[in-house]
Amino acid sequence: MSDPAIDAQPTLPGVFGPMRGANGNVRITGPCGDTMEFWINIQDGRIHRCTFTTDGCSSSLACGTATCTMASGAPEAVAFELQPEDVLALLPGFPEAEKHCALLATNTLKAAISDYRKKNCPAESCASCAKECDTQKVPPATGPVPVPPVPTESGLSGVKHKIVVLSGKGGVGKSTVAANLAMSLTAQGFKVGLLDADLHGPSVPMLFGLVGAHVEQIGEWVQPAEANGIKLMSVGFMLEHPDQAVIIRGPLKIKMLEQMLHEVSWGELDYLVVDCPPGTGDEPLSVCQLIGSPDGAVIVTTPQEIAAADVRKSVQFCRKLDLPILGILENMSGYACPKCGETVHLFGQNGGFKTAEKYNLAFLGRIPIDPSVGICADAGRSFLATHGESVSAKAFETAIEQILFALKKEF
Ligand code: ADP
Repeated sequence: MSDPAIDAQPTLPGVFGPMRGANGNVRITGPCGDTMEFWINIQDGRIHRCTFTTDGCSSSLACGTATCTMASGAPEAVAFELQPEDVLALLPGFPEAEKHCALLATNTLKAAISDYRKKNCPAESCASCAKECDTQKVPPATGPVPVPPVPTESGLSGVKHKIVVLSGKGGVGKSTVAANLAMSLTAQGFKVGLLDADLHGPSVPMLFGLVGAHVEQIGEWVQPAEANGIKLMSVGFMLEHPDQAVIIRGPLKIKMLEQMLHEVSWGELDYLVVDCPPGTGDEPLSVCQLIGSPDGAVIVTTPQEIAAADVRKSVQFCRKLDLPILGILENMSGYACPKCGETVHLFGQNGGFKTAEKYNLAFLGRIPIDPSVGICADAGRSFLATHGESVSAKAFETAIEQILFALKKEF
């Protein structure tokens, strides 16, 4: 028979309780009087396991659980940067008056990592060890989030060439180009993967007719989705519902990008095409750094001067990273009226071409606006396979030939 007194006990999470073999441990009492204790085990720069206890209320329990869950498996530097907002993002509807519990949890985690760092300081006889270690190893409070070291045995180990598709701004057709590039390479007999690194606007599930599909983890590796023979990875395959917004901040984004690159079993690939987040900020920067050394970048723009201004930033971005630019592709370049045949330049003319000329870069061509591009995207069909004879499809194919030509020059 069940005992009501026992049944009334809350179920404790798996990360609750002291840990044997921890190499970092600390107990902190917050201003509210609640105490939290964290145990961590760090191996090769990564939080192998993280557990906690608290004498606080259910809010402390929830925040400790969320913090340990996020930290487990994360690179040490990423876990160190976890913020109360990251914890609260996992706990929708968390009571306003209890939000200090999230701060207590992240502070205790930070302190446990610092404890590990002090215990593992390489400067054995250093008198002010703790301080020096902290200044040496703690990432700066501002600026781009440091990128953790890439594990040697990674999901990219069997990938021969990595191409990143960049754009100075969103909405210019970057994902469309990345998807068509992947499809065209597959049609030519190459083994291809496509990573949708656009965390806030994942479009790969829609472009490949896989909305609502989920990826699965087998052992240590996430198995990518697959369509038309292309291995696919996108944050869209990890959402419970396709309309769910991805609300995550800096360190967690980096962790997610790192997982999508290095913890996916990409297997043997001739090409991995990476659809980067738009712009030249922390996210595309992290993607390029996490890849290691991409073979080259394709920059997509529209012919408009305002878009071309952003392309110039993308060019500088690539140059700073020593990333070879395979060329500039001008998308949405004119629309041929189906009635009279006259080409209307809805987004101006030549912005991409002029930028390519100015920076002495390859110009990959102009892809006209074709309503079938959008129709195919919405239906999850390949535009190249279904409208291969159209002017836009031919322009895509020419651009892709040029990209391959430019890649050959790089090797
Ligand atoms: P980005 O990745 O730069 O945000 P997308 O690839 O998602 O841009 O494209 C934005 C929209 O424009 C999508 O609806 C896409 O179908 C459409 N689109 C892209 N290129 C063309 C084109 N050449 N002709 C017509 N529609 C296009």
